[in-house]
Amino acid sequence: MRFGLTDEQKMMQDMARDFAQKEILPTLKEDEVNHTFRPELVKKMASLGFFGCGLPEEYGGNGCGFLESVILAEQLATVSGSSRLPLNMQNIGPSLTVNKFGTKEQKERFIPDWVSAESFGFFAITEPNSGSDVVSMGTTAIDRGDHWEINGQKMWISNAHVGDWGLLYAVTDRAAKYKGLTCFIINLKGNEGIITAAIESKVGLHCAPTGEISFNQAKIPKDSVLGEVGQGFQICMWQLNNTRISCAAGALGIGAGAIEAAIGYANERTQFGKKIGSYQMIQASIAEMVAEHEAARLLVYQAAWLKDQGLPNQYQTSMAKLFASEAAVHAATETMKIFGSYGFSTEYPAERWLRDSMSLRTVEGTSNIQKTIIAGFALGDVVNR
Ligand SMILES: Cc1cc2nc3c(=O)[nH]c(=O)nc-3n(C[C@H](O)[C@H](O)[C@H](O)COP(=O)(O)OP(=O)(O)OC[C@H]3O[C@@H](n4cnc5c(N)ncnc54)[C@H](O)[C@@H]3O)c2cc1C
Repeated sequence: MRFGLTDEQKMMQDMARDFAQKEILPTLKEDEVNHTFRPELVKKMASLGFFGCGLPEEYGGNGCGFLESVILAEQLATVSGSSRLPLNMQNIGPSLTVNKFGTKEQKERFIPDWVSAESFGFFAITEPNSGSDVVSMGTTAIDRGDHWEINGQKMWISNAHVGDWGLLYAVTDRAAKYKGLTCFIINLKGNEGIITAAIESKVGLHCAPTGEISFNQAKIPKDSVLGEVGQGFQICMWQLNNTRISCAAGALGIGAGAIEAAIGYANERTQFGKKIGSYQMIQASIAEMVAEHEAARLLVYQAAWLKDQGLPNQYQTSMAKLFASEAAVHAATETMKIFGSYGFSTEYPAERWLRDSMSLRTVEGTSNIQKTIIAGFALGDVVNR
Protein backbone atom coordinates (compact mmCIF):
# COMPACT_ATOMS: atom_id res chain seq x y z
CA MET A 1 0.00 0.00 0.00
CA ARG A 2 1.47 3.33 -1.07
CA PHE A 3 0.35 6.58 0.55
CA GLY A 4 2.71 9.02 -1.18
CA LEU A 5 1.82 11.15 -4.18
CA THR A 6 3.61 10.68 -7.49
CA ASP A 7 5.82 13.46 -8.84
CA GLU A 8 3.05 14.37 -11.29
CA GLN A 9 0.45 14.55 -8.52
CA LYS A 10 2.78 16.72 -6.43
CA MET A 11 3.22 18.98 -9.44
CA MET A 12 -0.56 19.37 -9.80
CA GLN A 13 -0.84 20.04 -6.09
CA ASP A 14 1.79 22.79 -6.33
CA MET A 15 0.16 24.25 -9.43
CA ALA A 16 -3.27 24.45 -7.78
CA ARG A 17 -1.85 25.89 -4.56
CA ASP A 18 0.08 28.47 -6.53
CA PHE A 19 -2.97 29.35 -8.63
CA ALA A 20 -5.14 29.78 -5.54
CA GLN A 21 -2.56 31.97 -3.81
CA LYS A 22 -1.81 34.17 -6.81
CA GLU A 23 -5.15 34.34 -8.62
CA ILE A 24 -7.89 33.83 -6.03
CA LEU A 25 -6.54 35.11 -2.72
CA PRO A 26 -5.63 38.69 -3.74
CA THR A 27 -9.25 39.68 -4.50
CA LEU A 28 -11.00 37.16 -2.24
CA LYS A 29 -12.02 39.54 0.53
CA GLU A 30 -13.80 42.01 -1.75
CA ASP A 31 -15.17 39.22 -3.97
CA GLU A 32 -16.76 37.61 -0.90
CA VAL A 33 -18.36 40.90 0.13
CA ASN A 34 -19.63 41.66 -3.39
CA HIS A 35 -20.53 38.04 -4.24
CA THR A 36 -18.32 38.26 -7.32
CA PHE A 37 -17.96 35.29 -9.61
CA ARG A 38 -14.94 35.64 -11.90
CA PRO A 39 -15.43 33.72 -15.16
CA GLU A 40 -11.89 34.64 -16.19
CA LEU A 41 -10.56 32.52 -13.32
CA VAL A 42 -12.50 29.50 -14.61
CA LYS A 43 -10.95 30.05 -18.03
CA LYS A 44 -7.49 30.27 -16.46
CA MET A 45 -8.10 27.01 -14.62
CA ALA A 46 -9.05 25.50 -17.99
CA SER A 47 -5.86 26.77 -19.61
CA LEU A 48 -3.87 25.04 -16.84
CA GLY A 49 -5.59 21.75 -17.69
CA PHE A 50 -7.65 21.53 -14.46
CA PHE A 51 -10.78 20.19 -16.20
CA GLY A 52 -9.43 17.24 -18.19
CA CYS A 53 -9.35 14.56 -15.46
CA GLY A 54 -10.84 11.15 -16.30
CA LEU A 55 -11.42 12.07 -19.95
CA PRO A 56 -9.95 10.68 -23.17
CA GLU A 57 -7.25 12.81 -24.76
CA GLU A 58 -9.30 13.28 -27.94
CA TYR A 59 -11.88 15.30 -25.95
CA GLY A 60 -9.35 17.33 -23.97
CA GLY A 61 -8.36 14.76 -21.36
CA ASN A 62 -5.15 15.49 -19.43
CA GLY A 63 -4.15 11.89 -18.67
CA CYS A 64 -5.15 12.28 -15.00
CA GLY A 65 -7.96 10.73 -12.99
CA PHE A 66 -10.20 11.33 -9.97
CA LEU A 67 -7.31 11.41 -7.53
CA GLU A 68 -5.67 14.30 -9.36
CA SER A 69 -8.99 16.16 -9.54
CA VAL A 70 -9.43 15.63 -5.80
CA ILE A 71 -5.94 17.05 -5.20
CA LEU A 72 -6.84 20.13 -7.26
CA ALA A 73 -10.17 20.65 -5.45
CA GLU A 74 -8.49 20.29 -2.08
CA GLN A 75 -5.87 22.94 -2.84
CA LEU A 76 -8.35 25.41 -4.34
CA ALA A 77 -10.80 25.05 -1.46
CA THR A 78 -8.05 25.59 1.10
CA VAL A 79 -8.07 29.21 -0.04
CA SER A 80 -11.74 29.56 -0.99
CA GLY A 81 -14.60 27.04 -0.72
CA SER A 82 -16.26 28.62 -3.76
CA SER A 83 -13.32 28.05 -6.05
CA ARG A 84 -13.53 24.27 -6.27
CA LEU A 85 -17.04 24.38 -7.80
CA PRO A 86 -15.83 24.79 -11.42
CA LEU A 87 -14.14 21.37 -11.22
CA ASN A 88 -17.59 19.83 -10.83
CA MET A 89 -19.33 22.09 -13.33
CA GLN A 90 -16.77 21.70 -16.14
CA ASN A 91 -15.23 18.28 -15.53
CA ILE A 92 -16.61 15.82 -12.98
CA GLY A 93 -20.31 16.61 -13.59
CA PRO A 94 -21.32 17.14 -17.24
CA SER A 95 -18.08 16.04 -18.99
CA LEU A 96 -17.61 12.67 -17.30
CA THR A 97 -21.32 11.93 -17.57
CA VAL A 98 -21.51 12.68 -21.28
CA ASN A 99 -18.29 10.72 -21.78
CA LYS A 100 -19.94 7.71 -20.09
CA PHE A 101 -23.43 7.86 -21.58
CA GLY A 102 -23.18 10.07 -24.69
CA THR A 103 -22.93 9.26 -28.38
CA LYS A 104 -19.68 9.93 -30.22
CA GLU A 105 -21.26 13.08 -31.70
CA GLN A 106 -22.33 14.35 -28.28
CA LYS A 107 -18.87 13.73 -26.83
CA GLU A 108 -17.16 15.54 -29.70
CA ARG A 109 -19.60 18.42 -29.58
CA PHE A 110 -19.78 19.15 -25.85
CA ILE A 111 -16.85 17.79 -23.84
CA PRO A 112 -13.99 19.85 -25.37
CA ASP A 113 -15.96 23.06 -24.75
CA TRP A 114 -16.51 22.19 -21.08
CA VAL A 115 -12.84 21.24 -20.64
CA SER A 116 -11.68 24.52 -22.22
CA ALA A 117 -14.41 26.52 -20.37
CA GLU A 118 -15.72 27.82 -23.70
CA SER A 119 -19.03 26.56 -22.36
CA PHE A 120 -19.96 26.87 -18.67
CA GLY A 121 -21.53 23.64 -17.46
CA PHE A 122 -24.22 22.81 -14.91
CA PHE A 123 -26.46 19.94 -13.81
CA ALA A 124 -30.05 20.62 -12.86
CA ILE A 125 -31.73 18.08 -10.58
CA THR A 126 -33.09 19.96 -7.54
CA GLU A 127 -36.45 21.77 -7.56
CA PRO A 128 -38.42 23.86 -5.07
CA ASN A 129 -40.36 20.76 -3.94
CA SER A 130 -37.89 18.02 -4.77
CA GLY A 131 -34.39 17.62 -3.30
CA SER A 132 -33.24 14.34 -1.75
CA ASP A 133 -36.21 12.53 -3.30
CA VAL A 134 -35.05 12.92 -6.90
CA VAL A 135 -37.85 10.78 -8.36
CA SER A 136 -40.43 13.25 -7.03
CA MET A 137 -39.22 15.98 -9.40
CA GLY A 138 -41.97 17.91 -11.20
CA THR A 139 -40.22 19.21 -14.32
CA THR A 140 -41.60 17.42 -17.37
CA ALA A 141 -40.33 16.76 -20.87
CA ILE A 142 -43.07 16.05 -23.42
CA ASP A 143 -42.29 14.49 -26.78
CA ARG A 144 -43.92 16.84 -29.34
CA GLY A 145 -42.79 14.85 -32.37
CA ASP A 146 -40.17 17.18 -33.78
CA HIS A 147 -38.96 18.53 -30.40
CA TRP A 148 -39.17 18.10 -26.60
CA GLU A 149 -41.23 20.59 -24.62
CA ILE A 150 -39.92 21.34 -21.10
CA ASN A 151 -42.05 22.78 -18.29
CA GLY A 152 -41.10 23.26 -14.65
CA GLN A 153 -38.60 24.84 -12.32
CA LYS A 154 -35.14 23.96 -11.05
CA MET A 155 -33.66 25.55 -7.96
CA TRP A 156 -30.29 25.76 -6.19
CA ILE A 157 -28.50 25.05 -9.45
CA SER A 158 -24.81 25.93 -9.52
CA ASN A 159 -24.03 28.09 -12.56
CA ALA A 160 -27.75 28.43 -13.47
CA HIS A 161 -27.58 32.07 -14.56
CA VAL A 162 -24.04 31.92 -15.98
CA GLY A 163 -24.32 28.47 -17.57
CA ASP A 164 -24.31 27.56 -21.26
CA TRP A 165 -24.63 23.85 -22.01
CA GLY A 166 -25.36 21.39 -19.21
CA LEU A 167 -27.50 18.50 -17.99
CA LEU A 168 -31.21 18.70 -17.23
CA TYR A 169 -33.10 15.88 -15.50
CA ALA A 170 -36.85 15.75 -16.20
CA VAL A 171 -39.84 13.40 -16.04
CA THR A 172 -40.79 11.75 -19.34
CA ASP A 173 -43.11 9.10 -17.87
CA ARG A 174 -44.56 9.81 -14.41
CA ALA A 175 -46.13 6.32 -14.05
CA ALA A 176 -42.78 4.62 -14.61
CA LYS A 177 -41.40 6.32 -11.44
CA TYR A 178 -37.57 6.06 -11.35
CA LYS A 179 -37.60 4.56 -14.84
CA GLY A 180 -39.50 7.61 -16.05
CA LEU A 181 -36.71 10.18 -15.67
CA THR A 182 -34.62 11.28 -18.65
CA CYS A 183 -31.41 13.29 -18.89
CA PHE A 184 -31.08 15.99 -21.56
CA ILE A 185 -28.14 18.11 -22.72
CA ILE A 186 -29.52 21.63 -23.04
CA ASN A 187 -28.39 25.22 -23.57
CA LEU A 188 -29.73 27.79 -21.09
CA LYS A 189 -28.95 30.71 -23.36
CA GLY A 190 -30.96 31.89 -26.38
CA ASN A 191 -34.10 29.85 -25.61
CA GLU A 192 -37.20 31.99 -25.13
CA GLY A 193 -38.81 29.31 -22.95
CA ILE A 194 -35.98 29.37 -20.42
CA ILE A 195 -35.46 32.05 -17.77
CA THR A 196 -32.64 31.95 -15.22
CA ALA A 197 -32.08 34.04 -12.11
CA ALA A 198 -29.42 34.25 -9.43
CA ILE A 199 -30.11 33.26 -5.82
CA GLU A 200 -28.46 36.04 -3.82
CA SER A 201 -29.55 34.94 -0.38
CA LYS A 202 -26.97 32.20 0.24
CA VAL A 203 -25.12 32.34 3.56
CA GLY A 204 -21.88 31.04 2.05
CA LEU A 205 -20.03 30.12 -1.15
CA HIS A 206 -20.48 33.73 -2.18
CA CYS A 207 -18.13 33.54 -5.17
CA ALA A 208 -19.81 30.47 -6.65
CA PRO A 209 -22.95 31.31 -8.66
CA THR A 210 -26.16 29.52 -7.69
CA GLY A 211 -29.55 30.15 -9.25
CA GLU A 212 -32.89 28.93 -10.48
CA ILE A 213 -34.15 27.98 -13.92
CA SER A 214 -37.77 28.27 -15.15
CA PHE A 215 -38.99 26.35 -18.17
CA ASN A 216 -42.16 27.54 -19.84
CA GLN A 217 -42.97 25.48 -22.94
CA ALA A 218 -39.25 25.52 -23.72
CA LYS A 219 -38.47 23.74 -26.96
CA ILE A 220 -35.32 21.65 -27.13
CA PRO A 221 -34.19 19.46 -30.04
CA LYS A 222 -35.07 15.76 -30.27
CA ASP A 223 -31.41 14.75 -30.19
CA SER A 224 -30.89 16.39 -26.74
CA VAL A 225 -31.42 13.10 -24.89
CA LEU A 226 -28.35 11.73 -23.08
CA GLY A 227 -28.37 7.93 -23.01
CA GLU A 228 -31.85 6.42 -23.36
CA VAL A 229 -35.25 7.91 -22.62
CA GLY A 230 -36.02 6.60 -19.10
CA GLN A 231 -32.35 6.18 -18.14
CA GLY A 232 -32.18 9.53 -16.29
CA PHE A 233 -32.31 8.15 -12.74
CA GLN A 234 -29.44 5.77 -13.41
CA ILE A 235 -27.42 8.57 -15.03
CA CYS A 236 -28.21 10.94 -12.16
CA MET A 237 -27.07 8.46 -9.49
CA TRP A 238 -23.89 7.69 -11.47
CA GLN A 239 -23.18 11.40 -11.79
CA LEU A 240 -23.84 12.17 -8.11
CA ASN A 241 -21.48 9.38 -7.07
CA ASN A 242 -18.76 11.30 -8.93
CA THR A 243 -19.61 14.91 -8.09
CA ARG A 244 -19.89 13.83 -4.44
CA ILE A 245 -16.17 13.00 -4.30
CA SER A 246 -15.31 16.46 -5.59
CA CYS A 247 -17.44 17.94 -2.83
CA ALA A 248 -15.62 15.73 -0.29
CA ALA A 249 -12.31 17.03 -1.66
CA GLY A 250 -13.59 20.58 -1.21
CA ALA A 251 -14.36 19.66 2.41
CA LEU A 252 -10.73 18.62 2.87
CA GLY A 253 -9.68 22.02 1.57
CA ILE A 254 -12.00 23.98 3.84
CA GLY A 255 -10.88 21.84 6.79
CA ALA A 256 -7.20 22.41 5.93
CA GLY A 257 -7.69 26.18 5.65
CA ALA A 258 -9.48 26.35 8.99
CA ILE A 259 -6.95 24.15 10.79
CA GLU A 260 -3.98 26.09 9.44
CA ALA A 261 -5.50 29.34 10.69
CA ALA A 262 -6.40 27.82 14.08
CA ILE A 263 -2.88 26.53 14.62
CA GLY A 264 -1.37 29.85 13.56
CA TYR A 265 -3.62 31.74 15.95
CA ALA A 266 -3.09 29.28 18.84
CA ASN A 267 0.66 29.78 18.50
CA GLU A 268 0.32 33.54 18.40
CA ARG A 269 -2.43 34.61 20.77
CA THR A 270 -1.39 35.06 24.40
CA GLN A 271 -3.72 35.01 27.42
CA PHE A 272 -2.85 34.63 31.12
CA GLY A 273 0.77 35.18 30.09
CA LYS A 274 0.96 32.11 27.85
CA LYS A 275 0.16 31.16 24.28
CA ILE A 276 -3.38 29.81 24.14
CA GLY A 277 -1.92 26.79 22.28
CA SER A 278 -0.25 25.77 25.54
CA TYR A 279 -3.62 25.13 27.20
CA GLN A 280 -4.77 21.53 27.08
CA MET A 281 -8.34 22.36 26.04
CA ILE A 282 -7.06 24.19 22.93
CA GLN A 283 -4.62 21.34 22.30
CA ALA A 284 -7.42 18.78 22.55
CA SER A 285 -9.47 20.78 20.08
CA ILE A 286 -6.58 20.98 17.61
CA ALA A 287 -5.72 17.30 18.05
CA GLU A 288 -9.31 16.32 17.21
CA MET A 289 -9.41 18.60 14.17
CA VAL A 290 -6.11 17.29 12.83
CA ALA A 291 -6.94 13.62 13.42
CA GLU A 292 -10.37 13.95 11.80
CA HIS A 293 -8.84 15.81 8.88
CA GLU A 294 -6.24 13.11 8.27
CA ALA A 295 -8.88 10.37 8.50
CA ALA A 296 -11.10 12.28 6.07
CA ARG A 297 -8.24 12.65 3.61
CA LEU A 298 -7.54 8.90 3.68
CA LEU A 299 -11.23 8.17 3.01
CA VAL A 300 -11.45 10.70 0.16
CA TYR A 301 -8.22 9.57 -1.49
CA GLN A 302 -9.28 5.93 -1.11
CA ALA A 303 -12.62 6.56 -2.83
CA ALA A 304 -10.91 8.51 -5.64
CA TRP A 305 -8.34 5.73 -6.07
CA LEU A 306 -11.08 3.08 -6.25
CA LYS A 307 -12.80 5.13 -8.97
CA ASP A 308 -9.55 5.39 -10.92
CA GLN A 309 -9.13 1.60 -10.69
CA GLY A 310 -12.69 1.06 -11.93
CA LEU A 311 -13.50 -0.76 -8.66
CA PRO A 312 -16.78 -0.58 -6.70
CA ASN A 313 -16.78 2.69 -4.72
CA GLN A 314 -20.29 3.97 -3.92
CA TYR A 315 -19.99 2.81 -0.30
CA GLN A 316 -16.54 4.40 0.13
CA THR A 317 -17.59 7.58 -1.72
CA SER A 318 -20.55 8.14 0.59
CA MET A 319 -18.41 7.48 3.67
CA ALA A 320 -15.80 9.92 2.37
CA LYS A 321 -18.40 12.60 1.62
CA LEU A 322 -20.14 12.23 4.99
CA PHE A 323 -16.98 12.10 7.07
CA ALA A 324 -15.09 14.86 5.23
CA SER A 325 -18.11 17.21 5.32
CA GLU A 326 -18.71 16.71 9.03
CA ALA A 327 -14.97 17.00 9.77
CA ALA A 328 -14.84 20.31 7.87
CA VAL A 329 -17.84 21.69 9.79
CA HIS A 330 -16.23 20.59 13.07
CA ALA A 331 -12.86 22.11 12.13
CA ALA A 332 -14.50 25.39 11.10
CA THR A 333 -16.57 25.48 14.32
CA GLU A 334 -13.54 24.85 16.51
CA THR A 335 -11.50 27.43 14.59
CA MET A 336 -14.16 30.02 15.20
CA LYS A 337 -14.02 29.24 18.94
CA ILE A 338 -10.21 29.41 19.03
CA PHE A 339 -10.32 32.82 17.38
CA GLY A 340 -12.55 34.08 20.19
CA SER A 341 -14.34 37.32 19.28
CA TYR A 342 -12.18 37.65 16.19
CA GLY A 343 -13.81 34.44 15.00
CA PHE A 344 -17.10 36.27 15.11
CA SER A 345 -15.77 39.09 12.94
CA THR A 346 -16.08 39.29 9.18
CA GLU A 347 -12.58 40.79 9.19
CA TYR A 348 -11.15 37.32 9.83
CA PRO A 349 -11.70 34.21 7.68
CA ALA A 350 -12.97 31.89 10.45
CA GLU A 351 -16.60 32.84 9.84
CA ARG A 352 -16.25 32.21 6.06
CA TRP A 353 -15.00 28.66 6.61
CA LEU A 354 -17.92 27.97 8.89
CA ARG A 355 -20.45 29.38 6.41
CA ASP A 356 -18.90 27.59 3.44
CA SER A 357 -18.51 24.30 5.30
CA MET A 358 -22.22 24.23 6.17
CA SER A 359 -23.08 23.80 2.48
CA LEU A 360 -21.16 20.51 2.43
CA ARG A 361 -23.76 18.83 4.62
CA THR A 362 -26.43 19.57 2.02
CA VAL A 363 -25.02 19.45 -1.50
CA GLU A 364 -24.57 16.26 -3.55
CA GLY A 365 -26.81 14.37 -1.13
CA THR A 366 -27.21 15.52 2.47
CA SER A 367 -25.36 13.94 5.37
CA ASN A 368 -28.57 12.08 6.26
CA ILE A 369 -28.81 10.72 2.72
CA GLN A 370 -25.16 9.59 2.86
CA LYS A 371 -25.97 7.75 6.11
CA THR A 372 -28.92 6.08 4.40
CA ILE A 373 -26.68 4.96 1.52
CA ILE A 374 -23.89 3.76 3.86
CA ALA A 375 -26.34 1.84 6.05
CA GLY A 376 -27.87 0.22 2.95
CA PHE A 377 -24.46 -1.20 2.00
CA ALA A 378 -23.46 -2.05 5.58
CA LEU A 379 -26.70 -3.95 6.20
CA GLY A 380 -26.31 -5.86 2.95
CA ASP A 381 -29.43 -4.41 1.32
CA VAL A 382 -27.48 -2.93 -1.60
CA VAL A 383 -24.48 -4.18 -3.59
CA ASN A 384 -21.52 -1.80 -3.81
CA ARG A 385 -20.81 -0.69 -7.38
C1 LIG B 1 -24.72 26.02 -2.70
C2 LIG B 1 -25.60 24.96 -3.29
C3 LIG B 1 -25.33 24.49 -4.57
C4 LIG B 1 -26.16 23.50 -5.14
N1 LIG B 1 -25.92 23.09 -6.43
C5 LIG B 1 -26.80 22.23 -7.02
C6 LIG B 1 -26.65 21.88 -8.40
O1 LIG B 1 -25.71 22.30 -9.09
N2 LIG B 1 -27.57 21.05 -8.96
C7 LIG B 1 -28.62 20.55 -8.25
O2 LIG B 1 -29.44 19.83 -8.83
N3 LIG B 1 -28.78 20.86 -6.93
C8 LIG B 1 -27.89 21.67 -6.31
N4 LIG B 1 -28.06 22.01 -4.97
C9 LIG B 1 -29.19 21.46 -4.23
C10 LIG B 1 -28.81 20.36 -3.25
O3 LIG B 1 -28.27 19.26 -3.93
C11 LIG B 1 -30.09 20.00 -2.47
O4 LIG B 1 -30.38 21.10 -1.64
C12 LIG B 1 -29.93 18.74 -1.64
O5 LIG B 1 -30.00 17.61 -2.49
C13 LIG B 1 -31.01 18.60 -0.56
O6 LIG B 1 -32.27 18.85 -1.06
P1 LIG B 1 -33.28 19.84 -0.29
O7 LIG B 1 -32.55 21.09 -0.02
O8 LIG B 1 -34.52 19.90 -1.10
O9 LIG B 1 -33.55 19.15 1.09
P2 LIG B 1 -34.64 18.03 1.41
O10 LIG B 1 -34.43 16.85 0.53
O11 LIG B 1 -35.99 18.62 1.46
O12 LIG B 1 -34.19 17.62 2.88
C14 LIG B 1 -34.49 18.42 4.01
C15 LIG B 1 -33.93 17.72 5.24
O13 LIG B 1 -34.55 16.44 5.39
C16 LIG B 1 -33.57 15.42 5.39
N5 LIG B 1 -34.10 14.24 4.71
C17 LIG B 1 -34.73 14.17 3.51
N6 LIG B 1 -35.04 12.91 3.22
C18 LIG B 1 -34.59 12.15 4.24
C19 LIG B 1 -34.60 10.74 4.53
N7 LIG B 1 -35.12 9.84 3.69
N8 LIG B 1 -34.03 10.32 5.69
C20 LIG B 1 -33.50 11.21 6.57
N9 LIG B 1 -33.46 12.55 6.35
C21 LIG B 1 -33.99 13.01 5.21
C22 LIG B 1 -32.36 16.02 4.69
O14 LIG B 1 -31.16 15.35 5.10
C23 LIG B 1 -32.43 17.46 5.14
O15 LIG B 1 -31.84 17.57 6.39
C24 LIG B 1 -27.24 22.98 -4.39
C25 LIG B 1 -27.48 23.45 -3.09
C26 LIG B 1 -26.68 24.43 -2.54
C27 LIG B 1 -26.97 24.90 -1.15
